[in-house]
Amino acid sequence: MSTFTDLGLQQPILDALLDLGYVKPSVIQEKAIPQIISSTTDLKAFAQTGTGKTAAFSLPIIELADLTNMNTQAIILSPTRELAVQIGKNIEDFSKYIPNLKTVTVYGGANIDEQIRKLKKGAHIVIGTPGRTVDLINRRALKLGNIKWVVLDEADEMLNMGFKEDLDKVLEATPNDKQTLLFSATFPREVEEIARNYMKNPVEVTSGEKNTGSNNVSHEYYLVNEKTRYPALRRIADVNPDIYAIVFCRTRRETQQVADNLIRDGYNADSLHGDLSQAQRDSVMEKFRKKTVQILVATDVAARGIDVTDLTHVINHKLPDQIENYNHRSGRTGRAGSKGISIVLVNRKEKGRLHSIERIIKQKFVATKIPTGKEICEKQLFHLIDKIKNTEINTSQIESFLPSVYEKFEHLSREELIQKFVSSQFNSFLSFYENTSDLNDLSSKENSRGRASSENMTRFFINIGRKDRLNPAKLIGLINDQNIGDKIEIGAIDILDTFSFFEIDKSFEDSTLEAFKVNEPEFGGRFVNIEITKSERGGGNRGGRKRGKKSFGSKNEGGFGRRRSSEKQNSRGRRSGSGFKNNQDSGGFGRKRKRITKK
Ligand code: AMP
Repeated sequence: MSTFTDLGLQQPILDALLDLGYVKPSVIQEKAIPQIISSTTDLKAFAQTGTGKTAAFSLPIIELADLTNMNTQAIILSPTRELAVQIGKNIEDFSKYIPNLKTVTVYGGANIDEQIRKLKKGAHIVIGTPGRTVDLINRRALKLGNIKWVVLDEADEMLNMGFKEDLDKVLEATPNDKQTLLFSATFPREVEEIARNYMKNPVEVTSGEKNTGSNNVSHEYYLVNEKTRYPALRRIADVNPDIYAIVFCRTRRETQQVADNLIRDGYNADSLHGDLSQAQRDSVMEKFRKKTVQILVATDVAARGIDVTDLTHVINHKLPDQIENYNHRSGRTGRAGSKGISIVLVNRKEKGRLHSIERIIKQKFVATKIPTGKEICEKQLFHLIDKIKNTEINTSQIESFLPSVYEKFEHLSREELIQKFVSSQFNSFLSFYENTSDLNDLSSKENSRGRASSENMTRFFINIGRKDRLNPAKLIGLINDQNIGDKIEIGAIDILDTFSFFEIDKSFEDSTLEAFKVNEPEFGGRFVNIEITKSERGGGNRGGRKRGKKSFGSKNEGGFGRRRSSEKQNSRGRRSGSGFKNNQDSGGFGRKRKRITKK
C-alpha cells in the first residue's frame, strides 16, 4: 500500500492532504495519480462517486500545472453545477499551499459576466458544466487552445443528461495533443463511443470491479404496493431515529409529493429537484449538510453533486428507469470508509428488476420486513433512554431551579417518575402505531383495498351531486365514459347534495382534466365540470364544506403526526414562511416535528 508521497506529489500538496485528513490514497488514486503524472497517455477510469475520483484527477493536474503562464491548461467538465462547485472547492483545498494556482468554476444559472470577468483574470484550471462551457467558448471568453488536460467527470451522467453535443464541441475546441481523462461509473455504449472518438489508446484503471457497487453498502428491499409504499417509507424513517438519508424519486413531481408528505407528517425533510431555483437548491443543500434536514428527497439529476460522506441510508422510493443509475444512487452512502444501507421499495412487478441490478452490483438484495409498530416503538423508546443516559448535566445552569423541581416530584417514587417521564415523551408515538396493520401482509384488507393511498391520488371536485341523482356507480360510469385511460384508478368518492368529490390516480390528473374539458359531458341535463381540490392533497374536502355521509375508500395509517391543516404553501408547493422550527414536542423524538404557524 503506497502513501501520497510515493505517488509523486510535491510537499505543498501533501501538506494540504494532511490538513484534509487524507492519510492514505484510495484505490483509484493509487492507480490514476502516478499514471497521469508519468505519462501523457489518455486514461479511462471506472470509478463511481465516493471512490476518491476527484483527487485522482485533480492532484496530478495541480502537480503538473505550469504556473509561469496564465493560460488555461485544464478543463474539467462535470454534469451538474453542484458537482462542479464541489470539484472547484476540492481543488482549492488541495492547492491551498500553492497560492499562485488559479481556478475558476463556471456553470449555468449564474451571472455569465461575472464568470467572464474571472476568466479574464486568468485560470490555470477551469471547472464547468458542459452547456455554460460551450457558451463561454462561443463568446471567446474561454480559450482552450493551450489545454493539456480534459477531464470528463461522470461521463455517463453527462451523456444521460443530453450533453453529448456540448461535449463534442468542447473536445473539438481543444488541441490534439492534450491528455483526456475520462471518469465514469458505468460504460454504456454512448460513453464507449466518446472514448473511441476522442481518446487514443487509453490506459484503463478501475477503482474496483467495473460497474460494481461499494462493499461498504448493503442492499435491502422491502415489498410494498402503491398503498403501503409511503407508510413503509415512514416506518423505515421511524425505526432509524438517527436517519440521515437521500430518498430518490424518478420525477420532479414524485419528489415534491414525497417531500411534502414527509414534511406534513413532521419529518425534517426537504426536496431537491430541477423545478427549484438555484438559490432554493443551495439553501436546501446547506440545510442538508448541516443536518437540519435529515431526509432529502431528490431526483437523480439534482442529487448528482451532493458530497455528503456520512449518509446512513439511500432509499429508492422508486427504482430508477435505467438500472445503471442504481449504482449512482447507492454510491451516495458507504463513502469514505463508512457503512451504508441502500433500500429499495418495490412492488411485485418491479421486484423482477432487482436481479439485473444484482448482476451489476455483484451483491444480493436482502429481503427485509417492514417494521411493525411495536418494533418501531421499542426502537424509539430505547433511543430515548440512551439519549437521556448520555445527556450531560449542566449543574451550574440548572442548580438554582433544582430545589423547587425536587419539591414538585417529592411525592413520586423513582418508578412512578420514570413511568410518567416515558409516557410524557412517548404516548403520542404509541397511539400513532397502536392498532396499525402489518404492512408486510399485502393481501390484508387494510393494505390492499384495491386502490392507491391518497398520497398518490388527486381529489377532484365535480359540480353534480345527490340532487342530480348521482350515486357512486353513476359517477364511476361518467368517469369511465370519458375514456381517460384503460388502467385508470378511481379512489374515494364523496357524494354530497349539490356537488361531489372523487379521487383519481395522480398519474391521470392531467388527462382527467383534459378529457372533461374536451368532452364537455352532461349529467341530468347539467353541464359537468371538474376542478382539482386545492385545500389538501389526497383526502381533503373543499373550502370547509361538509362532507357527505357516504364515503368510500380507505383510511390512511393515521393519528400521530398527521396534520389535517390548510397550511399555506408557496409557489413551489412548500410550506411558506419562517413560522416553523424544529422542536421535540408531542411528536416524539428522532423525528423532529415542525411547528407550523398558520398565516
Ligand atoms: P469523491 O469520490 O471524489 O467524490 O470523494 C468522496 C469523498 O471521499 C470526499 O468527501 C473526499 O473528500 C473523500 N476522500 C477522497 N479521497 C480520500 C482519501 N484518500 N482519504 C480520505 N478521504 C478521501
